[in-house]
Order: sequence, then structure tokens, then C-alpha cells
Amino acid sequence: MSYVDEVIARVVKENPSEPEFHQAVKEVLESLRPVVDANEEAFRRDALLERIVNPERQIKFRVPWVDDKGQVQVNTGYRVQFNSAIGPYKGGLRLHPSVNLGIIKFLGFEQIFKNSLTGLPIGGGKGGSDFDPKGKSDREVMAFCQSFMTELCKYIGADTDVPAGDIGTGAREIGYMFGQYKRIKGVFEGVLTGKGLSYGGSLVRTEATGYGLIYIVEELFKCHGLSLKGKTAAVSGAGNVAIYAIQKAQQLGAKVVTCSDSTGWVYDPDGIDVAALKEIKEVKRQRLTEYKKYRPNSEYHEGRGVWTIKTDIALPCATQNELNIDDAKALVKNGVIAVAEGANMPTTLDATEYLQKNGVLFLPGKAANAGGVATSALEMSQNSERLHWSFEEVDAKLKGIMVALYHNIDDAAKKYGFDGNYVVGANIAGFEKVVNAMTLQGIV
Ligand code: NDP
Repeated sequence: MSYVDEVIARVVKENPSEPEFHQAVKEVLESLRPVVDANEEAFRRDALLERIVNPERQIKFRVPWVDDKGQVQVNTGYRVQFNSAIGPYKGGLRLHPSVNLGIIKFLGFEQIFKNSLTGLPIGGGKGGSDFDPKGKSDREVMAFCQSFMTELCKYIGADTDVPAGDIGTGAREIGYMFGQYKRIKGVFEGVLTGKGLSYGGSLVRTEATGYGLIYIVEELFKCHGLSLKGKTAAVSGAGNVAIYAIQKAQQLGAKVVTCSDSTGWVYDPDGIDVAALKEIKEVKRQRLTEYKKYRPNSEYHEGRGVWTIKTDIALPCATQNELNIDDAKALVKNGVIAVAEGANMPTTLDATEYLQKNGVLFLPGKAANAGGVATSALEMSQNSERLHWSFEEVDAKLKGIMVALYHNIDDAAKKYGFDGNYVVGANIAGFEKVVNAMTLQGIV
């Protein structure tokens, strides 16, 4: 049995009932075979793969809080500190009823490589709770966040572990958690990112994931003799990533004709009106059915359908496994040039393979949506030096990071004979830096 297969088998055996974690480990280790095969003796001796698939530390804790009726509720909190070889643990806090240890481990494992790819000194971690902020009052959310942080604050700090937002953890939750951390620890430090601008947040963090996605696609196109100007793009989702991807794509001359939410999708042949979309989603928090009131020429359709549109570029920015094999076939039939993942794992494995086999340029989320965490790292830098950078300064840094990231994964793919396979390139490039740091730091 090969070393990779041995470690995968061991992960499955030792982490029962964690299918998402198994899937993530398989996906990454499978594509690392060329590197592992070339270094098998040294890696085996140092048990490198066994160490990289084992979190350095995982914390699970009780989160009791009192609801508006005076009833005590109990949730479970998690923080998985996966790998600190290249910097303090960094990764979001997911608040969603589906959260369990396996999901946090899967996200934390992926985060190691994503963070490494940014070129910034941030290790991998992830956390969260099965608490659902939807439908809770502000007071209930505050009570939960304070109780959650009362325990979590024992394990985090500006130089040890810096959590951020994720699904269910937005500006409101980060604010309550930061306030509680400061009260207990008595220090004002950059222990969380995604903070409000009035207390240490960074400009561009809101736009970063969507903008970063378009910056990396722009570089991909440039390197293939293409331009975004005049291209048509289909975007799914209508949340943070989707809105700012649409905005930047249109600024750079592409026409984005779709967006979607969990109930339906919009086709606007004249290009999505970002101001209208922001008003509907960010201000009024309404459904996309409202869009037609702003743009009478547009169409609204119930259910799924974004990927049936003829488009040059497809940008899945909503959720996991939202672009399946049938969607991939429809996109290829309609002549799609590139697919870049704004969301985490939006493309199923068979759809990814189909797109790649049919010559579609495919950028995995690990690389394509890394602009968010990269800008979080820039927030940490600003907090450390107690300065606040301008929008233009942060934006220019973000763009530089995404351009460098593209070349990093492109070079890694070429080095191992997988020219143009950015999935392999991203996994290898992210892995090599972490492994190098782990090796230099000895057996820890
Ligand atoms: P939001 O919650 O802001 O937006 C998600 C959007 O996707 C919403 O419009 C939502 O619709 C829609 N959506 C959810 N499920 C479905 C579905 N099944 N079909 C169609 N649409 C759906 O999240 P973000 O934009 O922040 O995140 C989107 C993705 O990007 C996630 O995978 C996230 O993990 C990833 N990501 C986000 C980063 C960030 O900085 N925000 C960084 C890196 C990755 P509705 O409103 O109806 O629920």
C-alpha cells in the first residue's frame, strides 16, 4: 500500500463518523501523490502525513446561555487548532445547526493550505458552534456570543489563534465576541478579524473575497491571452461573495447576467444592477423576486438554473456542491471558458473532472476565494502596528496577493507535470510551504 493510501485508511479508521473530514483529506492527499512519491522515505521517517492530518489541538466546550423566555439553552462550541507551522492559527467561526467536529475539522484542514497559498504568515484553524443565529433576538445572540467567548478566550490571542467570521458569524457576532474577550482579558488586541471599522477592522475586508476572485480570474485570463472585457459571466449566490464578485467583474468590463439565492435565480440580459442587488440583499434583506421591480427587462425563475445560461465565465459563489455534473455538461456545451470557485467546494468532484477534461480553465476555491482570509491577515498587520491603511492601499495589496497566488499554483502544477491543473497546483503549493516549515521546526 502506498504511503498516501495508508494515511487515508488510518484517518478513516481513527476518525469515525466524520465523512466531510475524510473527503477533504482524500481530496488533498490524492493530488499530493507526485510530491509524496518523490519524497517518500523522508516523509515516512518524519511521519509527515500523519502529523499534517492530525490537529495540533481540538477544543470542545459547553456553551450555556439564557433565552428571552428565561430558559437555559446549551450549545456545543469547537475550536480546532490544526497547524501553526507558518503562523498563528487563523480561520473562521461557523454558527450553524449543522456544525459538528467533523465539519470543523474538514474546514480547518482545508484552511491550512488556503492560508499557506496567500503567502502570508497564517496557520490553519476553524471553529464554531451548532447555535443558529437565525430567528434569535439581538440579546439572545449577545448572550450566546458572550458565553462562547468566555470559554474560547482561554485558547486564543493575537499571536496564538485569531478567529474570524464565517457562516452565521457576521459583524454583529464578531462585535459581541470581541467585547467579551476584551472585558475578560483586559487587552485590546487584534484577536478577531472582520471587526467593525470603528474598532480595528480593515477597509476592503467586506469586498475582499469577491474582488479577489475576479483579480485571480483576470490574471488567469491575461496569462492565456484573454481579457475580461466583453465577456459574459454567470454568478450564483447573492450574498457577500457574489455581490462583490459581480461588482468587480463589471468594473473590469465583463457583463454578469445572473445571480441566485436559495429559492430562485435572476437573468438580466443587460447585466446585473449591483446597486439594486445591494439594496435588496444588504439593506432590505428581501428575496430576489424583488429584483424585477428595479429591472423590468430581467427574468426571475424559481429553483436552480444559473448554469444553463450561455456564458464565458461561471462563478459559483453560493454554497457547497451547487454545480453538479449536469451543470458542468451544460456549461461545456455552451462554450464556457473558465470556472472559478468563489464558494467553498461548490463544484462536485465529477463535475470538476468533467470541466478539466473538456479544457475548461478551473480555479479551485482554495485559491480563488483566498482573498478573504488574505485581507484578514492584512487586518492583523494593521492591528499590530496600530495603523489603519487606506482602501486603495489594502485593495492594491489584495490584488498583488491574488496575482502572486495564481503564479504560485501555476508554477507548482507545471513543476510536477500537471500544466494547467490548478487543483493539483493549489494543493501542492500550499502543502510544500507548510511541510518545509514543519521539517525545519523538528518533531513537534
Ligand atoms: P452569504 O450567506 O452572504 O451568501 C450566500 C448566498 O448563497 C446567499 O445569497 C444564499 O441565499 C445563497 N445560497 C445559499 N444556499 C444556496 C443554494 N442551495 N442555492 C442557491 N443559493 C444558495 O455567504 P457568503 O457570500 O459569505 O459565502 C458564500 C460562500 O463563500 C460559502 O461557501 C462561504 O463558505 C464561502 N466563502 C466566503 C468567504 C467570505 O469572506 N465571505 C471567504 C471564503 C469562502 P439565501 O440568502 O436565500 O440563503
